[in-house]
Amino acid sequence: MPIENKNRTVCTGCALLCDDISIDVQFGTIQAVHNACLRGTKKFQFASKKDRIKNPAIKDLATGSSSDATWEAAIDKAVDLITHAKHFVIAGVSRMNDDAQELALNLAAKLKATLAIQDHATFTRVFEAIQNHGIELFTLGETINNADLVLFWGANPIDLSPKMLVKTAFSRGRYRQSGKEVKKVAVIDDYPTPTMERADIKAISGDTSHGAVLATLARALVDRKILEPSWIETSGIPKKLFEEPALSDELLSQLKDMAVAIDNAEYCCIFLGEAVLNQQSLGDERWLLDGMLSLVRAINAKRKMAVLPLFYTWNFAGLLQALATTADKVEVIDMRDMPSRAGNGTVVLSLGSDFISKASDDEYRRLSELPVVCVDFKRTPTTGIASVILPPAMTGIESGGTATRLDGVTLNLSPPIGMKANMKSDQEILQLILEKIGM
Ligand code: SF4
Repeated sequence: MPIENKNRTVCTGCALLCDDISIDVQFGTIQAVHNACLRGTKKFQFASKKDRIKNPAIKDLATGSSSDATWEAAIDKAVDLITHAKHFVIAGVSRMNDDAQELALNLAAKLKATLAIQDHATFTRVFEAIQNHGIELFTLGETINNADLVLFWGANPIDLSPKMLVKTAFSRGRYRQSGKEVKKVAVIDDYPTPTMERADIKAISGDTSHGAVLATLARALVDRKILEPSWIETSGIPKKLFEEPALSDELLSQLKDMAVAIDNAEYCCIFLGEAVLNQQSLGDERWLLDGMLSLVRAINAKRKMAVLPLFYTWNFAGLLQALATTADKVEVIDMRDMPSRAGNGTVVLSLGSDFISKASDDEYRRLSELPVVCVDFKRTPTTGIASVILPPAMTGIESGGTATRLDGVTLNLSPPIGMKANMKSDQEILQLILEKIGM
C-alpha cells in the first residue's frame, strides 16, 4: 500500500493548535510526522503505542483489579454509578473537542454536577480584570502580520508550546516581510529561560515581584512620555512601588531598555504566561492583572499594544467559550479545590484529566476511595484507581470536530487516521451516557 500524505493536519499537542502538520499514513497507522515539535510528534506517535488503553474496563471491587469489558457493560456501569451519586463531579473537560465539551456541560447542568477545571481560579481573576478594564486582545495572525515587538511576560513557550516563538516572532507577515529582522522579542521572567535565550531584550525579575516590575516599567514609560503621569494615580498599584522601587540597578536598566523598545514599536503583542497567571502571584498582588490591563489600555492612546493570556491545554479556550453560555447553570470550581469538596457519596467523571497525580498523600487516600469513571486513552494514576475506564479515540488524530485556538479562532480538526473498529470518540461516549440516563 502506498504512503498517503495528509497535509494541513491540526496538532492537539497544545493550545497553539498548529495547522501546518503533515502526516505520512500507511496501513491505517502514522509512519512519519513532519513539521511538528517534539511534543506534537510524540502525541501523534502515541496513537500506535502498545501501552495505550484500547478496551473499556471495569474494576472488580472484591479483587481491586480491572478487567476488559464490552462497551455496553462499561457504559451501563458508569451510568449506574453516576445516577446513584449523592454528589456528582465532572473533572477535566479541556482536552476534548468543542462539541464534546458542550455535551459535558449539558450533563453537568442536567445532573447538577460540580465542574472541576484546571486553572479555573486563575482564569476567574483574569475574567474579573477584563470586566474591570476591558482587554485589547490580539490574534496570532496579528502577531505574525502586524507586531514588531512580541513580549513574553512570565511565559516560557519554548517548553510549553514549542512552535509559538517561531510562528509569532520569527515568522514573516504581510507588514513584517523580513520576520526576525524587524520583529523584536522581549522576555520578562523570574529567571533565565530557554525563551529568554532567544530574546533581544530581557529582564530577569528574580525575587522582585511582577507588581514591582510593572510599576517600574510604567515609571519608565511615563519618563518617555508614552504614558500619562496621571495613570499612576488611577492604576490601583500601591504608591510605594512607584516611590521606592526595591530592585537592582541591573533590573532597573533592563526595564528602561524595555520601555525604549515599547516606545520604538508600532505594535506590541504581550503574551501573559504562567509566572504571572498562577494563584500565588495573583494572590500576593491581587491588583496585578488590573494594573497590567489598565496599562495596556492607557498605552493604546499613543501606541498599539494588546495582550493575550496563555493557557496551554489544547482546548482550554473552547471550554471557556462554552462556559460563558452555561456558567450560571453549573457550579464551577478549581481542580485544586476538588479534594476538599469530595466526600462520601461523591462520584467523579474524569474527562481526560489526571487529577490523582496532583493530589497530596492525604488527598490521594480520600480520592482513591471514590468511584471514578475515567474517559482517557492514557494510563495515568487516575485510570489506575478508576472503577470504570472508557477509552476514547484520540481527538484530532482518530476523531475530528472543532477546537478553539488560544486566540479564540475555531479550527476544524482533520484526523489523519480514522477510528478503528470498536473505537468510540469521547463525544460518542458522552452521548451514550446521556441517552442511557434518559436525557
Ligand atoms: S507547538 Fe503545540 S500545537 Fe504546535 S506542533 Fe508543538 S505541540 Fe503541536
